[in-house]
Amino acid sequence: YPNDPADQAIQLTNDDATVSRLSAVQLGYFDDPFVKYFVKRPTRRMPIINRGSYIRSRALDTLVQQFLSIPCLSASKKKQIVNLGSGFDTRYFMIKSGALNTKTSRLESSFSNYFEVDFPENVVKKARIIKQRKELQVILQQRSSDNDDDNDNQQQPDIRLEKGGTELSSHDYHLIGGDLRQWDQVVERLFAHGLDPQVPTLFLSECVLIYLPPDSATGILDWIQTTMSDCVFALYEQIRPDDNFGKIMIRNLQVTKLYTMWERMRNIELKGIHDFPSLAHQERRFLDVGWDNAMALDINTIHNSVLDQQERSRIAKLEIFDEMEEWHLLSEHYCVAWAYKSNHYEEFFAKHLGLKTLV
Ligand code: SAM
Repeated sequence: YPNDPADQAIQLTNDDATVSRLSAVQLGYFDDPFVKYFVKRPTRRMPIINRGSYIRSRALDTLVQQFLSIPCLSASKKKQIVNLGSGFDTRYFMIKSGALNTKTSRLESSFSNYFEVDFPENVVKKARIIKQRKELQVILQQRSSDNDDDNDNQQQPDIRLEKGGTELSSHDYHLIGGDLRQWDQVVERLFAHGLDPQVPTLFLSECVLIYLPPDSATGILDWIQTTMSDCVFALYEQIRPDDNFGKIMIRNLQVTKLYTMWERMRNIELKGIHDFPSLAHQERRFLDVGWDNAMALDINTIHNSVLDQQERSRIAKLEIFDEMEEWHLLSEHYCVAWAYKSNHYEEFFAKHLGLKTLV
């Protein structure tokens, strides 16, 4: 699909996601010392957008922390994370720097390989930023001293930029340019970079599957559960297509004078929203292709019923927030869903994964 204007618009949604994340970070919703490196022109977002970025990030981070600390897995460093449509996501850097450690788990050296896939156009940009930033390279080169495999590989050059800048890898990080609609080709590159189907693996996808033709997205979920022996999926995306969603987004983008973003969004089709419009559909999209278990919650519910009361009060004080009704309407249109399929650890996944409270 080279140079397709619709694809370009989808690639640019990454800039909006990154600017929104930085906006929430700068206002004190959460910490991320790395996101600033990926934004040229910081812009303050509306309070409802900042709150949404925060809840989404906390929810996904919680699932990542749970996966990396599952007791039967945490003794071994052998675990993988694959982020599909990763854009300028900073989670690899957050984990490696210790920023996602919990009171009980140190996660810096808790995985063996971390893969990110996005369109080559976005990967080239991300790889360039990483190559320009010493702060990021230091983290890519950081090895855990207690791992024998790593010591065996000490001779390799640490950061390799390959395929015209569309692939960048270190001993535990692999940034891969590819089109998720051409999944066979993506899979070939994941295997070339060391994806191991026998190693427990967490797949992440934030605001990505919705842009794919529904059959492509379903094919990916099917491939994962068929191929990987123990896997977890965590996704975030839009649900419940109706007028409120469109109206609120239009109003917000106009009020905040984000006309370019609005222009872009108008031309983007949320392909998956009609096939997976509700929480039940989001759960069934996994169960129908053979995953063992799946759950979905909307952001409104996560904010009201899952987020700790003290945290809710803390974030309520960060900005003047007088758009309660809009917040409720908007946050019902986004969901977090998670699923697992396991040959060896089902009872551990059942016990330790889920959004009961946001840690
Ligand atoms: N996951 C990142 C985040 O949450 O910050 C980025 C989200 S952005 C809204 C959507 C991302 O999905 C973009 O980076 C886009 O390029 C990527 N994407 C969408 N369709 C894709 C495809 N067919 N192949 C590869 N990447 C795709």
